[in-house]
Amino acid sequence: PDRDGSGGASPAVRVLRRVFGYDAFRGPQEEIIEHVVSGGDALVLMPTGGGKSLCYQIPALVRNGVGIVVSPLIALMQDQVDALRALGVRAGFLNSTQDFEERQAVEAAFLAGELDLLYLAPERLRTESALRLLDRGTISLFAIDEAHCVAQWGHDFRPDYLTLSTLHERWPTVPRIALTATATEATHDEIAVRLNLKDARHFVASFDRPNIQYRIAPKNEPKKQLLTLLRAEHPGDAGIVYCLSRGSVEKTADFLVRSGIDALPYHAGLDSRVRAANQSRFLRDDGVVMVATIAFGMGIDKPDVRFVAHLDLPKSVEGYYQETGRAGRDGLPSTAWLAYGYQDVVQQRKMIEGSEGDDAHRRRLGSHLDAMLALCETVECRRERLLAYFGEESTPCGNCDTCLTPPASWDGTVAAQKMLSTVVRLHRERRQKFGVGQIVDILLGKKSAKVIQHDHDTLSVFGIGAELSDAEWRGVARQLLAQRLLTVEGEYGTLVLTDTSGDVLSGRRKVPLRRDPEPAKRAAKADAR
Ligand code: ADP
Ligand code: ZN
Repeated sequence: PDRDGSGGASPAVRVLRRVFGYDAFRGPQEEIIEHVVSGGDALVLMPTGGGKSLCYQIPALVRNGVGIVVSPLIALMQDQVDALRALGVRAGFLNSTQDFEERQAVEAAFLAGELDLLYLAPERLRTESALRLLDRGTISLFAIDEAHCVAQWGHDFRPDYLTLSTLHERWPTVPRIALTATATEATHDEIAVRLNLKDARHFVASFDRPNIQYRIAPKNEPKKQLLTLLRAEHPGDAGIVYCLSRGSVEKTADFLVRSGIDALPYHAGLDSRVRAANQSRFLRDDGVVMVATIAFGMGIDKPDVRFVAHLDLPKSVEGYYQETGRAGRDGLPSTAWLAYGYQDVVQQRKMIEGSEGDDAHRRRLGSHLDAMLALCETVECRRERLLAYFGEESTPCGNCDTCLTPPASWDGTVAAQKMLSTVVRLHRERRQKFGVGQIVDILLGKKSAKVIQHDHDTLSVFGIGAELSDAEWRGVARQLLAQRLLTVEGEYGTLVLTDTSGDVLSGRRKVPLRRDPEPAKRAAKADAR
């Protein structure tokens, strides 16, 4: 008799319905699950919220033995295990937060075959005792979650992940499934090589998140711009605000709280108890805004995050995609908003210049930044750009700022030449280098104290740029920096030419620029009180 109404459904579909209560698989889930159930290795790339967990949980329930899940997210294991137990799945975890007795109980359950899933921190697998324990039980599969942690140049690199390549040698017949939401082909290949997964089948889900509206705004008064956004579009909504530094996390959280927003800070400098308390308030209460460094977010499963705001430029498109991907896991309309300005470019270029590692490493960081800048400066569909970065072709989306209010572009060649020649004159005629403020004052013909002091009003370029405003010139500088037609050096971020500046000065290269929308100054001020 067909008691549960599942008819001739496969064991995987029956588990999906009976245990998890869902009707159907999403995207490539079914194919992945069938592949792993039948013993194959898999490398799964799926965006955040795509449904990666079922891809190993169901095979672990269908196959004989215990599914071992390797995850770096120790803080979330208890929650994950509790959620599974609530569904009647026999799950446990082993990590450094447990005392001896708790660990013993889990190990005994594992050996007695009383577990379906066992979550482990990667460092456990470094110890011979843990490996011997696994030897004594029956393993149905290894799931390696957040597999991009094995990528050595990624910002989530965990050295312990490198030892996971040996799982295959010790248990050659146990299928392995590696999962990540990081999408570039390079990371992809690195995961396959480092985890010894060269023969694994690759499953790539579309990275499009159609319910997320991508917006990148020129930064003028970021905290006030943020507040305007929250009040106008997201009153009472839960969201995440990313800042680069701990200091700006604190200041921004304070500012929001003083403005009546239920905001909390999160960064690595906070006491671990405060961090845990803030995280659980964010997860459990409605409408909490978490102001955080990128230390916050990996593995956070909160479906109704309505916006992710960046007050500083992310270092890479991958980072941007991961962070914005935490919005709208429930599929409802959500906003990804980034404020971006001249200082972001200066700051990031300086950080790369001063970073540890060899030249190849710095070049890699530089090209990651360049891709991020290109996304910021594009006059075309943001989503199309974003997906193209991950190798996916698409058409203009209608749900990003550039689709909704197409920005004008203009021929900035002459403006670029004026700015570059000012930098050249200062250097050639005066042996001087200056930051953007002074260059713009000279172009505008402003007799500021610093201009008079340095006698810059006698330069032939003084006042040649009166046709643009101060803000417009800064926009030109930012875009020249983004296009590497100009660069900054030293502590003060002085402007210097690059190898390609000459092509602009000689007229061989045209410089199309994006026209920045005028800041909505008055609205922002009225709202910020
Ligand atoms: P990821 O790990 O890829 O970020 P999760 O595995 O946490 O995503 O899944 C995201 C959400 O989607 C969860 O709430 C999960 O229960 C839900 N989900 C996953 N697969 C399905 C499905 N086939 N049908 C309905 N909901 C699903
Ligand atoms: Zn678009």
